[in-house]
Amino acid sequence: MTSTERPPSVDRLARSIADIGLPHPMLVEAARAAIAAGEPDSARTVADSMARRMLRPVINGTGTLLHTNLGRAPMAWSQAEHYTNLELDLDTGERGSRMDTAPALIAKACGAEAAIVVNNCAAAVLLALAGIADGQGVVVSRGELVEIGGGFRVPEVMARSGAHLIEVGTTNRTRLADFERAVDEHGDDVGLVLRVHQSNYRIVGFTEAPRTAELAGLAPPLLADIGSGLLDSRCPWLDGGPPGWLADEPAARQTLEAGADLVTFSGDKLFGGPQAGIIAGRAELVARCARHPLARALRPGSLVLAALQETALAYLRDDGRAIPFWRMATLGVDELRGRAEALGAGTVVEVASTPGGGTLPGVEIPSAGVAVDGDQRARLRERDRPVIARVVDDRTVVDLRTVHPDDDAEVAAALAADPGD
Ligand SMILES: *Cc1c(COP(=O)(O)O)cnc(C)c1O
Repeated sequence: MTSTERPPSVDRLARSIADIGLPHPMLVEAARAAIAAGEPDSARTVADSMARRMLRPVINGTGTLLHTNLGRAPMAWSQAEHYTNLELDLDTGERGSRMDTAPALIAKACGAEAAIVVNNCAAAVLLALAGIADGQGVVVSRGELVEIGGGFRVPEVMARSGAHLIEVGTTNRTRLADFERAVDEHGDDVGLVLRVHQSNYRIVGFTEAPRTAELAGLAPPLLADIGSGLLDSRCPWLDGGPPGWLADEPAARQTLEAGADLVTFSGDKLFGGPQAGIIAGRAELVARCARHPLARALRPGSLVLAALQETALAYLRDDGRAIPFWRMATLGVDELRGRAEALGAGTVVEVASTPGGGTLPGVEIPSAGVAVDGDQRARLRERDRPVIARVVDDRTVVDLRTVHPDDDAEVAAALAADPGD
């Protein structure tokens, strides 16, 4: 464009790319940006990239079952336009509680007296600390003052909750006696004993930590932040029982049975539901959390509660197949290899899936997939249904464990497409 030409009208330029389907104000923004850059013709490219940034379905070929960048646990959930009895007791016609629905089912599924649901596990820990130990001390092992992904740091959450930290032991070794001494020393100032699962890392070698049952014997209530949301270590929802790779992952039911008064966990890690945080345990303590003013600020809406209800019902029916995470996690390698062979694209390869989501570090689940030469990730991401792949040894690999079988044909088409297209 020479300086004597008038810039095209922003509005006219925006209308000329209306077929992209974005609302007019977004097209205007794209047109303005293109004109400001001195390249009005780039308006379409700018608008296209705006459209691509919107939330959309992607095909997870990474083999990471709970992929933080891809929304952790996948779920099939849609809802028609309707009201729900979110806070209406249909028997009495009086106001009901949203915590009588999914939270009550989750409590039943993990053997807790009661449960309350908030927006994520970070919120669950915050609310539990605030609800039970506001203004009091919370005793924690120095080996458990962890940071979980996304900036969740136990000491910082503690500070925000109004409780204060009483650190005991050392990074690698903390004994029951360390906790006992702190509880004796601080007396009534201790509101809680907290145990935090080292979800995304392990300290190995010269280590020691008291068992949950030992900590439960101390006078203050015990809160166990187990994080991952494994409901029951026996996995009664799986025909074959617990897979070997679950190893020592703490489970809600067994942690409560061992004497923890409250457990907190995520809805979208090994629980396999929507993003949510659950506090489950003794009814009186759960009620204290529910009464805290933060509970109102952290409560989920009916969409999340309805999706959680579906997941909880699947657990109560022992139906792991209805929970996408567990269905995918337990697929046999032979079945996956069969699907890889049937794709007819790339080379069939043995790969290793991982649970992901900051759970079970180092765990690998044998899997199968297909590989093509070179790094094709960018090209695969450009598709209408982006395929997210990994690069291993200079080859682009799609692990079929995390791909829905209905998407196999799409993966085949993506891999077969001429890279020059
Ligand atoms: C993942 C995790 C959290 C944070 O959970 P979000 O649902 O991501 O907020 C807290 N504590 C532990 C032990 C975790 O593993």
